[in-house]
Amino acid sequence: MTQDSGTTASATAGPATGRTYWLEHAWLGDRVEPGVTVTVGVRGDGGARGDGRVTAVTPGVPAPPPGAEILRGLTLPGLANAHSHAFHRALRGTVQVGAGTFWTWREVMYSVAERLNPESYHRLARAVYAEMALAGITAVGEFHYLHHAPGGTPYADPNAMGEALVAAAAEAGIRITLLDTAYLSAGFGEPPTAPQRRFSDGTAEAWAERCSLLEEQDHARIGAALHSVRAVPARELATVARWAQERRAPLHVHLSEQTAENEACQEAYGRTPTRLLADHGVLGPRTTGIHSTHLTGQDIALLGDSGTGTCMCPTTERDLADGIGPAAALQRRGSPLSLGSDSHAVIDLLEEARALELNERLRTRTRGHWTANALLRAATADGHAALGWDGAGTIEPGAPADLTTLTLESVRTAGPPPRLGAETAVFAATAADVRHTIVAGRHVVRDGAHTLVPDVPHALARAVEALRP
Ligand SMILES: [Zn+2]
Repeated sequence: MTQDSGTTASATAGPATGRTYWLEHAWLGDRVEPGVTVTVGVRGDGGARGDGRVTAVTPGVPAPPPGAEILRGLTLPGLANAHSHAFHRALRGTVQVGAGTFWTWREVMYSVAERLNPESYHRLARAVYAEMALAGITAVGEFHYLHHAPGGTPYADPNAMGEALVAAAAEAGIRITLLDTAYLSAGFGEPPTAPQRRFSDGTAEAWAERCSLLEEQDHARIGAALHSVRAVPARELATVARWAQERRAPLHVHLSEQTAENEACQEAYGRTPTRLLADHGVLGPRTTGIHSTHLTGQDIALLGDSGTGTCMCPTTERDLADGIGPAAALQRRGSPLSLGSDSHAVIDLLEEARALELNERLRTRTRGHWTANALLRAATADGHAALGWDGAGTIEPGAPADLTTLTLESVRTAGPPPRLGAETAVFAATAADVRHTIVAGRHVVRDGAHTLVPDVPHALARAVEALRP
C-alpha cells in the first residue's frame, strides 16, 4: 500500500497542497460523518504516488474551506462493478420479449457477439462505460472473451478487441480491469461451436501468450478469467491459474450458474465445478467466483476456506432465471462479496446491493442479513479488491481519489436523516441519484452530466442501433 504520510500532516485544508473537496456528508466505511474535507494530491505533490490519491481526510469541518470544491449530498467511495460483459448492453429490452431460459437467451447474445468488430465494440463500450460513470461506477471488471474475428481468425493486432475496451474505459473516464478470458470449448470435450470460434485461442498456452502482450496503464489492470468449467478443459485450468499467480493478477471464473453445468461436470469429471477448480489450483484469495449459484455445502467450505471471493450479479441472475446463490453462507465462511451488473439488464450498483439483501429476505422470510454498511463495502472496497485495485474503494489517505456523490434531495432520497445515509443509499436511492463521479481526483460526472462523453443516451442509441441485424 502506498501511503503518502509525508503530505498527510500538512494537508488538512486549502488548495496549496493539492485539490480539496468538502463533502457535506461522507460514508467512511462504517458511519456517515457530516462535514469532511478530502485532499487529493496533484502532480508534483508527493510525486507520482500522490497523484490522484487522497492525501488527507478530515472530519468535523462544518463549512467548506475557501477554495474547496463542494460535494453536496452523501459521498461514497467510487463503486466497483466487478463483473461486466459490455456488449450485452446491446440486448437490453430486446431479450425481454417471449419466454425461455438462460440457454435460449444465450442464442440471442451470440447473434450480437457475431456482429462486433474492434471499432463497433469500442463505440459501444465507450457508451456503456459512460453509462457506468453516470451510475457512480469508477472501476469495471470486464470479463472479456470476444478475442478474434468471426470464425476465429486473429486480428492483425491479436489484442485489438481487448485494447478497444481499455481505450473505451479511458475515454469514459473510469478504471478497468480487463479480465482476459480463456474460452476453449463449447462443453465438456466438445470443440467451440461456430459463434464461439472467435472466443477461442485453441489452447491455454496460446491464450497466455496473447494475454502477455497486453500492457497495464494508469487506468487499466490486466487480469485473467476462465470462462467456466465447460469452456476450459480441466487439463488447461492450471496454465491459466499459474499465469495469474505469477503476475499476482485477479482471476475470475463463472461458477455453477446453471444446474445443467453442474450435472455435465459431474458426468465428465465426477466432481462439482468448485471441487474441480480446487483440484487444479484455481481457488485462492485473488480468485473470484462469479454467480456461485448452485453450490453444495462442501463447495461453500472450499470457497470460503480458501478465501476465494464471490461476485453476485443479482439483477442478471433474476433476469436470466438462474436462482438465488448462497451469498450469506459464502461470506460467513470467509468469501468476500463483490457485485456486478454482468448482462446490464440495468446498470445500477445500488440496485445490485439492495437485491442481494432482498433476495435473501424472500428466500428466508426474515430480514437483516446484511447491514447497509456491509452491502456498501461489497460495492466499494471489496469490489475493488476483487479487481486488483487494492486499497481503492475507501475514503482514506493513500487510496485513489475515486468518489461518488448521491443527492439526498431527490424524490427517492429526501426525508431520512443524513446519518442514515447508508441505509438511504442502499434501500431507496438509484443510479439516477448520482450527482458527481470523481476518478483519480478528476470530475468525470459533474451535476449529473458526463464531462467527457457529451450525450451518453445518444452514444448508446447509436452504438446499439449499429449492431441491429
Ligand atoms: Zn458473466
